Amino acid sequence: MFKKSLVVAALLALGLPLFGQAARKPRVVVFGVNGMEWDIIRPLLVRGELPNLSRVISRGVYGKLRTVASPNCPKVYSAVATSTPPDQNGITGFVVGGQTANTNMLKEEPLWSILSKNGVSVGMANVPATFPVMPVNGYMISGMLTRGKNCEDGVLCSPKLSEVSGGDAVYPKSMVAEIEKNVGDISIDCARMPSADQIKGHEEQVVNEWLDNVDRIRAQQAKLFEYLLDHHPTDFTMMVQSCEDRVGHWLYPIQPYNVGYNPKVASVRVNAFPDQYRALDKVLGKVLAHVDDNTYFFMISDHGIKPLREFEEDPHMHMDHGGTTPVIAKHDFADGDDVPGAFIAMGPGINHDKRLLGFQATVFDIAPTILHIYGIEQPKQMQGHVLSEIFDSSSARPAGGR
Ligand SMILES: [Zn+2]
Repeated sequence: MFKKSLVVAALLALGLPLFGQAARKPRVVVFGVNGMEWDIIRPLLVRGELPNLSRVISRGVYGKLRTVASPNCPKVYSAVATSTPPDQNGITGFVVGGQTANTNMLKEEPLWSILSKNGVSVGMANVPATFPVMPVNGYMISGMLTRGKNCEDGVLCSPKLSEVSGGDAVYPKSMVAEIEKNVGDISIDCARMPSADQIKGHEEQVVNEWLDNVDRIRAQQAKLFEYLLDHHPTDFTMMVQSCEDRVGHWLYPIQPYNVGYNPKVASVRVNAFPDQYRALDKVLGKVLAHVDDNTYFFMISDHGIKPLREFEEDPHMHMDHGGTTPVIAKHDFADGDDVPGAFIAMGPGINHDKRLLGFQATVFDIAPTILHIYGIEQPKQMQGHVLSEIFDSSSARPAGGR
């Protein structure tokens, strides 16, 4: 089994600085989104309302990302990190063996530990299921499923940095004060959804206030990303946004014939969900300001999100809602192919404006592809493959990143 403490030991044994890196390594930026839905994004792209995403697509390869069965955030991000299925890596959902999923349960070594051990500097912010944070050759700020104030087991909550409990949300610890000073007392995850009781009779007010809070959290998150990219550049950087999915779950722009349609809620902000992607595009622009032509840039999402299409035995499978938020869209369909994620890549030697049809890319392929860029051999437990189809065969593929 994989042990976190071995990573620090390996870093010290290699004589590597725990922060920063002298040798020139390839630079990779992964921008993750929780629940990026092509059905909503495509019309916005056509109308020119996502200029930054449009630019990345025209300069890169894009398509669906095959996800796992009944996908949810901790499950899929752990599959991405380890390139192993949930049953093998131990993170099978929001709750594992009655406890909220956490990094102590991880049975396979994640990408950031392997990179750290190989001297690649690593910077991560708000990646789901990374709490308590692990030692890396750089920094890590946890994301969704960080525990703290008002967090019952398995429930998505949004503790502020100062409210975190049960483990560290920041590595190294010394960065807590730095973040508080330069960014603020950040919310680690997106806002918790209101309950049916809170919504009933106050639909307009609750929807508007909650969306305002989502905007505030996204602005703060963008400030954090910019601060880290400016002040702590790393070879490998991974940052994840989580508000899109949260909004989609109860404010997806559904029709009266869809399951769960409530005109009192649906009529308040019909653009609430597409607006999340318009806002995402602005954050993307800020991240792209730190991505030059020599940087590999990946944009991924763990799954899409679709309106409920039939009455299922348990339409409120998301523990998030605690069974209390009226959900009108979801992603944990038994067949993960119903809600594929998104995959976009651009960088040296990567094709331009190429669409990957079908399921050429899966969540398991992300880690092997990134290791390949750094010239690190794919560990045998990893089940994905290097996405050689994204590279232009006429140009030199990254020859092991050197
Ligand atoms: Zn969700």
